[in-house]
Amino acid sequence: MNVELLVIGAGPAGVSAALWAKALELDVLLLDGAPVPGGQLHAVHFHPQDVPGFEQGDGPALAAAYARQLAAASVPLRTACFAETLEAGEGRTPRVTLAGGEAVEARAVLVASGVRRRRLEVPGEREFENKGVSFSATRDREQLAGRTVAVVGGGDAAFENALLLEQAGSRVTIVVRGVPRARAEFRSRAAAAGITVLPDTRVLAVLGDDRARALRISGPGGERELAAEGFVIKAGVVPNSEWCRGSLACDAEGYVVVDERLATTAPAVWAAGDITRPQPPSIPVAIGQGAQAIAMIRAALRGR
Ligand SMILES: Cc1cc2nc3c(=O)[nH]c(=O)nc-3n(C[C@H](O)[C@H](O)[C@H](O)COP(=O)(O)OP(=O)(O)OC[C@H]3O[C@@H](n4cnc5c(N)ncnc54)[C@H](O)[C@@H]3O)c2cc1C
Repeated sequence: MNVELLVIGAGPAGVSAALWAKALELDVLLLDGAPVPGGQLHAVHFHPQDVPGFEQGDGPALAAAYARQLAAASVPLRTACFAETLEAGEGRTPRVTLAGGEAVEARAVLVASGVRRRRLEVPGEREFENKGVSFSATRDREQLAGRTVAVVGGGDAAFENALLLEQAGSRVTIVVRGVPRARAEFRSRAAAAGITVLPDTRVLAVLGDDRARALRISGPGGERELAAEGFVIKAGVVPNSEWCRGSLACDAEGYVVVDERLATTAPAVWAAGDITRPQPPSIPVAIGQGAQAIAMIRAALRGR
């Protein structure tokens, strides 16, 4: 299959890019591995206040609006369609191979595959997901309120979740692999609220029976079990770049390197959104980068 522009990822960056590309009459195809567009919006269980024009509703509501807008603009969209490899380089047309083996060649490719939450990858983590193991205290606040909860992670999200639960009457312990990296304000609020922080402590396993009951942890005092009624894992995010790393320069953590025009190191391949490690990683920045990338791509393809 051949298209003029292939956009990989239908989160805010890819949707913004595809809508704008369609309006500019580029022959665009938008692909996403998930069953519906929206990307991380499906994990935003509150009203994102930094999105102008979106006066109310949560992330999934915004994602549903994206789906409607893509359909109304007749943007060709293929969901449940996962990009497995990208071949690109000097003197060749970029080629993306999909799960199942189909190949798509495009005069331009926009990488907008975003990030996913980091898992601990320890025994019990997947087994007890939604059976005591949560990845969002905002989403699971009702089940976790008033209980003994261990939050795993040392960044802003971990401390914010811990504070939210403490306000909901939970007794919270934060397990941090190294030193807490959360902003000073969150750390002092946690200390003032009596939240226990266990630094230099690794989680070895999630233990339980019909549901999670404890963490096996290893810290300065050796190995032990930390019992709790709920566990919230907030260990950061990782870029979805495994599929394109072979052809594009990425930084040490796997984020795609771009220049100020959002061009990657491979000819005819651009990138936008969280995959480029923007500051701050957010819906408005992803939308803006999606639009900016299309301006650059159109200039490259059509000379204007
Ligand atoms: C809990 C939470 C709360 C947040 N709150 C806010 C907020 O209040 N305000 C705000 O501005 N931002 C918020 N964000 C951040 C915001 O959601 C992201 O910055 C934004 O979604 C990034 O958009 P993106 O298009 O770059 O990537 P993503 O949203 O990550 O979308 C990437 C898409 O690419 C697809 N994909 C990945 N790999 C492949 C592949 N190989 N093949 C095909 N498809 C692939 C994925 O399925 C996904 O749909 C929040 C994020 C989370 C997790």
